[in-house]
Amino acid sequence: MINGTRLTKSAIRWGMVGGGKGSQIGYVHRSAALRDGYFDLKAGAFDLDPGRGRDFGVELGLDPDRCYRDYGTMFAAESARSDGIRCVTVATPNNTHYPITRAALLAGLHVICEKPLTFTTAEALDLQAIAAERGLVVGVAYGYSGHQMIEEAARLVADGTLGRIRIVTLQFAHGFHSQAVEGDSPATRWRVDPAFAGPSYVLGDLATHPLYIAQVICPDLRIRRLLCTRQSFVASRAPLEDNATVLMEYDTGAVGTCWTSAVNAGAMHSQKVRVVGSRGSVEWWDEHPNQLRLEIQGEPARLLDRGMPYLHPQALADDRIGAGHPEGLFDAWANLHYRFALAIEAHEDGEPSRVSGLRFPGIAAGVEGVRWVEHCVRSADAGGVWVDYG
Ligand code: NAD
Repeated sequence: MINGTRLTKSAIRWGMVGGGKGSQIGYVHRSAALRDGYFDLKAGAFDLDPGRGRDFGVELGLDPDRCYRDYGTMFAAESARSDGIRCVTVATPNNTHYPITRAALLAGLHVICEKPLTFTTAEALDLQAIAAERGLVVGVAYGYSGHQMIEEAARLVADGTLGRIRIVTLQFAHGFHSQAVEGDSPATRWRVDPAFAGPSYVLGDLATHPLYIAQVICPDLRIRRLLCTRQSFVASRAPLEDNATVLMEYDTGAVGTCWTSAVNAGAMHSQKVRVVGSRGSVEWWDEHPNQLRLEIQGEPARLLDRGMPYLHPQALADDRIGAGHPEGLFDAWANLHYRFALAIEAHEDGEPSRVSGLRFPGIAAGVEGVRWVEHCVRSADAGGVWVDYG
């Protein structure tokens, strides 16, 4: 149970790029990083508008001298301080992730970056190489993957309860962009513009989340080939898709599907992962994250509840409150952040092997998300053909 105990020696001096006032995800990053005292917000270049960013930093309680006009100024100034930041979070639109993360790594900072990590696999691999060379941690914000019931699902697969895994069905299909809301919403406008969003909209923005969750639950599955089709139901969004379907074949013989959409009219998030084995299945849904449905063939279906003693000890370790109370997105993100902090400290101590068993979305997960999107786009744009995964 997490109850105020910090497992690192000190709070990590931390900065943010983006996540400014009114941004969609900035508050979630701050909540998650600050919740258990693992990070200490000291600096920021929070906004494209330097004045607004500075005011916001002061509002958050920062020293005005450490509210910077841009990330380059921040990295240079913080590097020159004996008490400078050690880690930075990048919570800006997708087109800036690569240059900002690269600059941060070159300035010797650990990075927590939003997804998709970059536009291309080559860029993601470049970041991976720089991080490895410098012994730095890159965490990627696949937030819900830190939820305890994802851990439980992974344990049920690992201990053979489901049998041999045959089918994985992934879904992240909301309805919030069923109409061209981008006219009134700046945060949606950049998402449907390739210059800011990259080669995809919903594949990168949404589908990479359940993709990573499935990798956590079924770490032994490797995609062998995939086929994708994508559509722009709001025509002005072309060439970016607001709906896509992906078929996947894994090298074990298992198969997978992924439906991702922003035009699933009437739906809320609808992020679901179902894993089907030869004996039974598990299903997790982000709208009811505290429950995991376990179905064993020939037995009544069970709804496993977070916090109950019948769960695996590892799925109880990150609880903050007893069963019956909901834990959700903020808690899952906070779970990832304490693991990021443990990884950062282990790397700074020169002992990365200390965290070799720790489950968190690192740079490899970031690379994989970008690689998957690249393959999906290649398949879809070739007319929906099978492409080998490499
Ligand atoms: P947003 O448009 O709501 O906010 C972006 C923020 O970044 C704004 O404050 C803007 O002023 C600032 N900004 C932009 N460029 C900047 C720069 N060069 N320097 C400093 N600040 C800059 O966007 P958002 O919805 O918060 O998305 C940001 C990122 O987070 C995107 O990559 C998105 O995909 C990701 N995201 C992830 C999740 C998740 O669940 N992990 C959820 C939402 C968004």
